[in-house]
Amino acid sequence: MTTLNRRTVLAAGAAMAGAAARSDQAMAQGAVKTVFTVAPITIPIAGQSEVFPVRRIYCIGRNYAAHAIERGSDPTREPPFFFQKPTDAIQNVPVGKVADHPYPSLTKNYHHEVELVAALKSGGTDIPPDKALDHVFGYALGLDMTRRDLQNEMSGMKKPWEIGKSFDHAAVLGPIHPVWKTGHFTKGAISLAVNGTVRQDANLDKMIWNVAEQISKLSEAFELKAGDIIYSGTPENVGPVVKGDVLLCKLEGLPDMSIRIV
Ligand code: MN
Repeated sequence: MTTLNRRTVLAAGAAMAGAAARSDQAMAQGAVKTVFTVAPITIPIAGQSEVFPVRRIYCIGRNYAAHAIERGSDPTREPPFFFQKPTDAIQNVPVGKVADHPYPSLTKNYHHEVELVAALKSGGTDIPPDKALDHVFGYALGLDMTRRDLQNEMSGMKKPWEIGKSFDHAAVLGPIHPVWKTGHFTKGAISLAVNGTVRQDANLDKMIWNVAEQISKLSEAFELKAGDIIYSGTPENVGPVVKGDVLLCKLEGLPDMSIRIV
């Protein structure tokens, strides 16, 4: 590279850095112009007009002993593991409605996983368990919908099983209930029925890692922030649904949530 060329490149680099800095400043002032609009992802909050803005969706795997066993692992030895879903996989389900939920593409074995979901108002790193619940804004009832055949196939090939978990509408959620109204959920019945037949029926106190421990462990791996939500894992007896099935989810202390597979 000649001196002249290098100087040109350096000048161009400086100009770009300047532009980037101006762009950051504009963004901070809310004045940035985007080439098109992407809808913000939010969850309704029960009893108030403001909505909860979503930053990330974390999910805990195999957090009930009986479910860990049915998925082929030893619940006594495995630390919690995590995965994420894209935020725009959220399907908000209003209370008192049966929401249509589209059967997804590519799968022939589409599974329900009913779960408690914790929504954070703040975060941090290396949060101790005894401080973790201070970061919870509220709780919701959720379904971690799963293309089980794709998850198993990828898992068998030692490939990432994202395609089994992270797809459109895969994160079904009722509204968030602020913790000042509901308190924290350390125990309570959680269940799921398909067409009136109970399939999953457990208690939150059977979780291997409770919500406080989940937040603490997650914060060792990621800096948690306001807007993060955590699917806390499903109890045993996950199973398939088909088009036409109506799912009814119950969690003691929250309103029911229901979807119809279409
Ligand atoms: Mn799950």
